[in-house]
Amino acid sequence: PLPTVAIVGRPNVGKSTLFNRLVGKRVALVDDRPGVTRDRREGEANLLGLDFRVIDTAGFEDEDPASLPGRMRQQTEAAVNEADVALFLVDAREGLTPLDEEIGRWLRASKTPVVLVANKAEGRAAESGIFEAFGLGFGDPIALSAEHGEGVADLFEAVRPHV
Ligand code: GDP
Ligand code: MG
Repeated sequence: PLPTVAIVGRPNVGKSTLFNRLVGKRVALVDDRPGVTRDRREGEANLLGLDFRVIDTAGFEDEDPASLPGRMRQQTEAAVNEADVALFLVDAREGLTPLDEEIGRWLRASKTPVVLVANKAEGRAAESGIFEAFGLGFGDPIALSAEHGEGVADLFEAVRPHV
């Protein structure tokens, strides 16, 4: 079986954009079963020749930002627990939010290795956000532009040891 990578982060940081870039046209499965897997999308990813299964989580999207438990506990927890590595996306343009901090605390308590990704990193507007992301405590973030395809080689280097 292929190793598994879970993409996690608060709404609008670019998780689905990264998922689509990794999977390209080879979307294997759109999972719309009810319950815990409702918003979950899986596909076979290829990252510069690295093959793995990728899960796009949407567990926060209907969530009151003040209460992480609900859907995150059900969906994202399941995805992260079965993953070989979690890609923790933050938005380098907007900077960190309390929800990013909370997701970070939660990920730190899980056993799954975490690769921190500062997405939307193209251009000067992202510089302070990339720096700020370091404060989450997962080391230097990978500066990525999922939309423009920048930083893909750095993402490859960070993911490779885990898959
Ligand atoms: P999700 O809610 O985390 O799945 O985020 P989406 O993938 O739906 O993206 C949210 C918004 O961010 C969309 O308008 C995307 O076009 C935009 N976006 C995603 N990646 C990038 C990026 O690398 N740079 C910029 N500037 N915008 C991006
Ligand atoms: Mg999404």
